[in-house]
Amino acid sequence: MPARGWPASWPPAARLRLRANPWSAGDGLRAGLARGAALSAGMDEFYGRNMPDADFGEEDFVSRAQLYGRFARIFNERGEEFFSDEVSWSENDLAQAVARQPNAHAWFVLDDRALAERVRDRTVAEMVAVAPTAADPAELPFPVPPGARVAVRVSPGITHTIGGLRIDERAHVLREDAGPVEGLYAAGADVGGISTGGYASGLAAALVFGRIAAESSQA
Ligand SMILES: Cc1cc2nc3c(=O)[nH]c(=O)nc-3n(C[C@H](O)[C@H](O)[C@H](O)COP(=O)(O)OP(=O)(O)OC[C@H]3O[C@@H](n4cnc5c(N)ncnc54)[C@H](O)[C@@H]3O)c2cc1C
Repeated sequence: MPARGWPASWPPAARLRLRANPWSAGDGLRAGLARGAALSAGMDEFYGRNMPDADFGEEDFVSRAQLYGRFARIFNERGEEFFSDEVSWSENDLAQAVARQPNAHAWFVLDDRALAERVRDRTVAEMVAVAPTAADPAELPFPVPPGARVAVRVSPGITHTIGGLRIDERAHVLREDAGPVEGLYAAGADVGGISTGGYASGLAAALVFGRIAAESSQA
């Protein structure tokens, strides 16, 4: 059951792996709610990356991210191509869509042309090479496109929530009636509504609003 105040579409289809520090477990959000704070939009969204659907450690957070969905044919375990939109620059839209597929996983199916593409400083083939779940497409339980060379089973790792405490432009935490919670300011991952429906920068949300919160608290 989603907790009180969370939309029915949360949680996703299966438990997501954590791609972040293990100590941030919602204490800031709970503390704000206990003081009467309102929730932002986007409580059913998260920022994360599609990772190989296998165990990973901290050292794999960046190196094993499978950030090439834009070049792949993408199937769920029923063989359905469930993502028809253009994949965004951060691929966060795709990570969230995968989270909502059966068992929260998908297959990225690649041909030679896709494998030769580059994303930042790596080729797609180099990203596939570090994925323990790379497989022969012929082994998939559904028909694959002609020319398919490799398939990688992925599942999202969650880095931080996109929903959170509602704040104003001065980082005051707000109540449901839009009034400020006296003396309470928030920034970073505890705050929601900054990149609802997309992804901006988690560091910017922390640094920009952290500074504003400090200034506001002194005003
Ligand atoms: C692998 C990885 C790559 C990333 N890459 C980028 C990137 O390229 N660009 C970008 O913009 N963002 C990136 N991010 C996201 C960015 O790091 C976070 O959005 C940002 O650090 C959030 O800042 P924060 O201060 O809100 O939280 P955090 O940096 O998580 O800091 C919260 C701190 O509070 C502590 N804490 C938690 N609970 C308690 C408690 N009850 N009492 C006391 N202390 C507590 C935690 O231990 C932690 O030290 C990345 C994140 C990861 C994991």
